[in-house]
Amino acid sequence: METPIKKILIANRGEIALRIMRCCRDLGIKTVAVYSTADRDLKHVRLADEAVCIGPPASAKSYLNVPAIISAAEITRSEAIHPGYGFLSENADFAERVESSGFKFIGPTSDVIKIMGDKVAAIAEMKAAGVPCVPGSDGPLGNDINTNLKLAEQIGYPIIIKAAGGGGGRGMRVVRSENELEESIAMTQNEAGAAFGNPIVYMEKFLEKPRHIEFQVVCDEHGNAIHLGERDCSMQRRHQKVVEEAPAPGIDEATRQDMGARCVAACKRIGYRGVGTFEFLFENGEFYFIEMNTRVQVEHPVTEMVTGVDIIKEQIFAAEGRKLRYTQDDIKINGHAFECRINAEDPVTFMPSPGTIAQYHPAGGLGVRVETHIYNGYKVPPHYDSMIAKLIVTANSRESALARMRGALGEVFIDGIKTNIPLHIDIFNDEAFQRGGTNIHYLEKKLGLD
Ligand code: ADP
Repeated sequence: METPIKKILIANRGEIALRIMRCCRDLGIKTVAVYSTADRDLKHVRLADEAVCIGPPASAKSYLNVPAIISAAEITRSEAIHPGYGFLSENADFAERVESSGFKFIGPTSDVIKIMGDKVAAIAEMKAAGVPCVPGSDGPLGNDINTNLKLAEQIGYPIIIKAAGGGGGRGMRVVRSENELEESIAMTQNEAGAAFGNPIVYMEKFLEKPRHIEFQVVCDEHGNAIHLGERDCSMQRRHQKVVEEAPAPGIDEATRQDMGARCVAACKRIGYRGVGTFEFLFENGEFYFIEMNTRVQVEHPVTEMVTGVDIIKEQIFAAEGRKLRYTQDDIKINGHAFECRINAEDPVTFMPSPGTIAQYHPAGGLGVRVETHIYNGYKVPPHYDSMIAKLIVTANSRESALARMRGALGEVFIDGIKTNIPLHIDIFNDEAFQRGGTNIHYLEKKLGLD
C-alpha cells in the first residue's frame, strides 16, 4: 500500500544528513534533524524544519541512543526515520524498534537486516540465489581441529578466518599454514565474542590480489528489483575506501548484466526493500560475494552520476510503498564518475585533524559535485568520523573524468585543518590508477604501509 511520508527524522549527521534533507526538500517532505551538543552548528540542523538535541557528543549517548531518537520522532510527530549510513543504519533491533513504535524505517525490514548482518546466513542465501561466493566452509566452524585442518587443506592456503557478526574490517585473520590454524580460529572466536557478542567464525579462501567491486540495487516492496551497475572501490587504506568510481574499469556490459541479474535474484529471494549494495572481491575475472550492505553507502553518488537515478529518492519512495518507476532496460550507464573522500586528517600520518575551518573554497564547474556540511568557520568536532566532504566528478569518459578530478582537487581550498587532499592528488597522478584496475592492496603498498 502506498502511504506518502510527510515528515522524516534524519538519524544521522554530517554530509549524509544534509544530502537526505535536500532530497526531502525536493520531495516536499518536512525534516527533523537530531544532533548532539557538539553538532549544534551543523548545516542541516540549521536548515531542517525542526531540530532536537538528543544528547552529549559521544555517539553512544546521542546518535546511537535509540530511546532519545524514538522520543524525538514522537515529540515532532515524524512519520519515518532515515538512518543514513554508519550509526544505527544496519542495526536490526533499531529498525524493529522504529517500526514497533509506529514509524517507517527507511530501509529493508529488520528480518532482512538481521540475515544480512550474519555473514554465514547471508552467504547461504546468496549461494541459493546463484550469487558466486568465496570457496569456504559453507557455515560455522566447529571445534574439531582435524575437520578444520582437512577443510583448510581442501580450500587451499592461504585462508581467512572471519567472524559471522564482523564488520568494519574487524574480526578476521589470515592463515598461511596449517600450524597456525588452531590458534587463529581460537583467537578470532574470542575476539568476535568480545567485539560482536557472537563467537561464530567461518573459513574462506584468502584472495591475494582482488579488486573490490560492488553492485547497487533498488527494490520496491512489491517484488520488483533492478540494479544500477557497479562501482570499483579498490583504493583502500585499512579496509576503508578512499576513492570510488563507476563504472568499474574493464567490466563489460554482458558481465555487468549477468552479475547485476544475480544480485536482483538475491533481492527477490530475501524480500529486499529499498536500496542496497552487494560487495564482491574480483580476481582473475571471477566475482566472489563478501557481504551485503543494507543501507545507502557513502559512495552512492558515483552511481547517481552515471545513471541519473537519485538513490535517496528511490529509498524514500520504496519506504512509502511505491512501485519502482524504472525497469532494468531504463537504466543506462553514461560516462564515468569518481569520488574522493576528503577527511580531516594528516595526509601522511593519517592522524585526525579536527579544528576550525578558517577558510573554505569549494571546487565547481561542469560535472563537479560536492557533498559536504562544512563552511567557513565550521568547527570539525573530534568525536566522529573524519570524513568532511565528498568531491565527485563526472565526464563522458574515464580519461576526462580523471582530468576533471585533478582540476577539482587543485581548486578546493580548506584552511585551518589538515586534509587528505594531497593524498588524493597523488592518487590521481598515479600511472597505475590512471590505467585502472588496481587491487585493494595497491594504496597501502604505494604508501609503504604493508
Ligand atoms: P567487513 O564487514 O568487516 O567490512 P568484509 O567481509 O566486507 O568485512 O571484508 C572486509 C575486507 O576484508 C574486504 O574488503 C577485503 O579487503 C578483506 N577480505 C575479506 N574477505 C576476504 C577474502 N576471502 N580474501 C581476501 N580478502 C578478504
